[in-house]
Amino acid sequence: MSRTLLVATHNAHKTGEIRAILADQFETVTDLTSLPGSEAPEEAGATFAENSAIKALAASRLLPGAFVLADDSGLEVDALGGAPGVHSSRYSGEGATDASNRAKLLAELSRSELADAPLSARFRCVLTVARDGGVVAQFDGTVEGRIAASETGSGGFGYDSLFVPDGHEASFGELPESVKNAMSHRARALAKFREWLDGGS
Ligand code: IMP
Repeated sequence: MSRTLLVATHNAHKTGEIRAILADQFETVTDLTSLPGSEAPEEAGATFAENSAIKALAASRLLPGAFVLADDSGLEVDALGGAPGVHSSRYSGEGATDASNRAKLLAELSRSELADAPLSARFRCVLTVARDGGVVAQFDGTVEGRIAASETGSGGFGYDSLFVPDGHEASFGELPESVKNAMSHRARALAKFREWLDGGS
């Protein structure tokens, strides 16, 4: 096994999860942090699929001949009509951080008119494989759960400390990485990518 996979992201957490989940498929999993001067394209799409393709195509143009994989993902909260959705990484506006996004989410859910609203939510991920400026394949994955009343745990990234997956009482921030990586939206999309690879692609 000497395959290398380039992931079209600057998010070390995503790369780390993908590296752990695909360890038996790719000897090396790198990302755009290893390509000096590579900038994240503007995510102008209206859907995860569109933004995932934008990221994959931009990276594939930088590296002619290489297969690249992009992940676009986010959190959908039913009581907020699916927000933050494709805006998950920049939910709290200019200069958003994971912490300010989580604070904004809790503030939105504390609005009095939402006092009795269900806290159901899901993470969604769309992966795009691209080569030479063309989309080769796309795969999606979701994990259902609910938003906790307050943050718990310090593992993972993004909204992990607020998301309790169905079948568990602890958040992704508290659960071991191995548990998240066996059931997450990213893991489920990567399982489809793996099947596609096993099919000889
Ligand atoms: P993207 O980099 O534009 O795809 O934005 C992804 C954003 O969605 C991240 O910045 C997080 O806020 C959120 N997100 C996606 N996947 C996860 C996850 O696995 N855990 C927690 N938050 C996530």
